[in-house]
Amino acid sequence: MSFEQLGLAAPLLKAVAEQGYLTPTPIQQQTIPLILDGRDVLAGAQTGTGKTASFTLPLLQLLAESDIKPQKPRKIRALILAPTRELAAQVYDSVRAYGKHLPLFAEVIVGGVSINGQIRSLQRGCDIVVATPGRLLDHLLQRHIDLSHLQMLVLDEADRMLDMGFLPDIRRIIGHLPKQKQSLLFSATFPEEIKGLAKQLLHEPAEVSVAPHNTTADNIKELCYGIGKEYKRELLSYLIGSNNWKQVLIFVRTKHGADRLEKQLIKDGIRTAALHGDKSQGARTRALEQFKAGQVAALVATDIAARGLDIDDLPHVINFDLPQVPEDYIHRIGRTGRAGANGEAISLVCPEEAYQLAQIEKLLGRELPRVADTGYEPVSLKVENRSNPKAPKNPSGKKDYRHHKKTPNRGGKPAGKPPRRAPAK
Ligand code: AMP
Repeated sequence: MSFEQLGLAAPLLKAVAEQGYLTPTPIQQQTIPLILDGRDVLAGAQTGTGKTASFTLPLLQLLAESDIKPQKPRKIRALILAPTRELAAQVYDSVRAYGKHLPLFAEVIVGGVSINGQIRSLQRGCDIVVATPGRLLDHLLQRHIDLSHLQMLVLDEADRMLDMGFLPDIRRIIGHLPKQKQSLLFSATFPEEIKGLAKQLLHEPAEVSVAPHNTTADNIKELCYGIGKEYKRELLSYLIGSNNWKQVLIFVRTKHGADRLEKQLIKDGIRTAALHGDKSQGARTRALEQFKAGQVAALVATDIAARGLDIDDLPHVINFDLPQVPEDYIHRIGRTGRAGANGEAISLVCPEEAYQLAQIEKLLGRELPRVADTGYEPVSLKVENRSNPKAPKNPSGKKDYRHHKKTPNRGGKPAGKPPRRAPAK
């Protein structure tokens, strides 16, 4: 199937060709004709499937073809809500890139930047707004934005917006929108609250889904290293250094953990930056740009900060800490293996995380492949007390199963120095 066959107009086909896309991805094949047909859509798609183009392309086409003559100033006719500033910025970039040959104007409205500049932009008028819910609601309540002419609403990564506590804001925003509109809801997972929101918002929606929910892409090679917590950093530095990885996204659980790991990796001689919610917008943008440009090899991020980052061809994702919420495993490793490229997702799992690992495997319906010989003393990843994950996993207090054969490469030696024996792949 080609983009032409999906019914896209010439200016969009030209923009798609300029992006270098040859064929539509499965989510694009399914979704674009439905949206062009005016249907509400409920789409199950994770990041990396080409979902942004699957709603942006038909949205641009419908706005461009709409009978309504552009008014002066332009009235907002489409609103795209995204969970994070980074994702909103990426969606905005996609809108600009795909809409390059159309006379449509877009603005991005996110928190963390001056509100006055945004007010001026909104006063100038535009056709499309890409926004995070909190800041958009501020503008709505202060009457800086008029959404009464809205024709299309997109909720992107709805499950993530739920996780981040945006659901009340989204409901309030929806309350300010015209009843008659086309609505599209994209989500990687479908917890009950998202189903409820879909029911409230969507009118006889067409349902599409690319990978079955809660599974991960085939082209991602997953590996799990069972390892004592105290050796994770050392193994990580070794993996990066010995394989000469140039672009690794590393997930940690906390902001503090991100800062600490960043410092340790830098000590190990690895060019590293951290991305988390306590960093200023400038620092976050800078970290991302340096990572994309290859100036830093490792980006350490929390789940929220990393959500929706569009980094092309990201080859390696590391779960330094397993996520608390099993669905986040799918979101995290969705950063790699995008649009058909091959990726590798490695989890460093200590015995204290056995419960989270079991939850992830339950969600996936399969075991993560274990690395048989990690080069370290084997550890048990069996859950010892399922009902209480916080209970001590080793009541005897013996530390035997986490003892390392040796402790090489401690104390900030350069990266790439292997443990005694190379970890088996
Ligand atoms: P998304 O799932 O929207 O985050 O897209 C993931 C990546 O796939 C982005 O880098 C897009 O630029 C890229 N992409 C989207 N559609 C296509 C396509 N039809 N062919 C190749 N790459 C694509």
